[in-house]
Amino acid sequence: MLSEKMIVTLSQQIKKEYESAYLYLEIGDFFGSRGLKGFRNWYFVQAREEEDHAMVIYEYMHANNAKVQFYSIEPGDNKFSDLITPIKAGINHERFITDSINKIYELAEHENDYRTKQFLNWFIAEQMEEEDTAQEVLDKMELFGETSSGLYQLDKEYGMREYEKCSQLK
Ligand code: MG
Repeated sequence: MLSEKMIVTLSQQIKKEYESAYLYLEIGDFFGSRGLKGFRNWYFVQAREEEDHAMVIYEYMHANNAKVQFYSIEPGDNKFSDLITPIKAGINHERFITDSINKIYELAEHENDYRTKQFLNWFIAEQMEEEDTAQEVLDKMELFGETSSGLYQLDKEYGMREYEKCSQLK
């Protein structure tokens, strides 16, 4: 049995994952408007992964007979003006999500909810990856994105990213 508090907290995390997807759509859209279709593709794939994260939590709650609460997703209001700001927004957001996952883990620990602790282990590892990947995008942009040929190569590379369904989903 998940506690009422845990049900609310996991439901809020579902909302946050959808907000992550929304942010990445916004970032992808920005790059698309600058003619960088590869970057757009990369962030669109990222957005789909975030939707998967939401569904992993959704399925976990369902498997535990918990009723998901649905909260409003806040609209993005980012005003990106250069190519670095949206990438940094992505990194900051991933740090925020890591913090959020850690807080759920703390709650699970506090409640002796061993099942949710175990469930969260995948998310904890995933967040390390997410932060690392986001940082890599920033590093590459700072290293190579200043020249048009470097930017062209990066765009080409990011255009090749393909969506893969999350391993935690059936
Ligand atoms: Mg996520």
